[in-house]
Amino acid sequence: TIAVITIDGPSASGKGTVAARVARLLGFAYLDSGALYRLTALHAKRSSVSWNDEEAVAALARALPAEFRDDAVFLAGEFVEAEIRSEEIGMGASAIAALPAVRAALLERQRAYRQAPGLVTDGRDMGSVVFPDATLKVFLTAGADVRADRRYKQLISKGDSANLPRILQDIHERDARDAARTVAPLRQEPDARLLDTSDMTVEQAVESVLAWYRE
Ligand code: C5P
Repeated sequence: TIAVITIDGPSASGKGTVAARVARLLGFAYLDSGALYRLTALHAKRSSVSWNDEEAVAALARALPAEFRDDAVFLAGEFVEAEIRSEEIGMGASAIAALPAVRAALLERQRAYRQAPGLVTDGRDMGSVVFPDATLKVFLTAGADVRADRRYKQLISKGDSANLPRILQDIHERDARDAARTVAPLRQEPDARLLDTSDMTVEQAVESVLAWYRE
């Protein structure tokens, strides 16, 4: 059987970094499911399709020309890593992720990433909806202030401008939206292990996931 490790959690929790490292250490594939929502939002914007047009966005998602190569993201062969990480596309991703037809359109594509010897995937509903039979489910979180601080340092290190109070406010707003939406709201599954990384380094978080996996 093929192992699947799901790591769900709120935005800016660092789950992507932890998931990618766990995948590399185990020799597993890695799927950043949020990137699929971000790519769909970017694809809609470039196709002049409104983020509110559920059927049109779902049609684009169904035929999404997305590709992951060497940890980089491509849309129709074009390297779009910087674009999909922008605040604007993050907002678009969050908007289209609330549309049931879009989530349904991306479901089988996400499941197709399951491959031998295993898959590590991160997102919001990977343990609840996409891989309910996962080998190990982790709910990775950190306090809102810690997440805001990490995001702030990440922006500054890239040479971008950043405003900490504003980032903290955005995080609170996105948490509320992700928890309140009717489709795939963000919450810890009963069978998911809770990993609060507020006082942990990335290495410690990675070690915790590996230790659970080896149990
Ligand atoms: O994790 P990331 O910030 O890249 O995700 C972008 C957006 O996609 C989030 O705001 C979230 O609402 C949505 N998303 C989702 N389900 C997933 C992954 C991401 O709804 N599995």
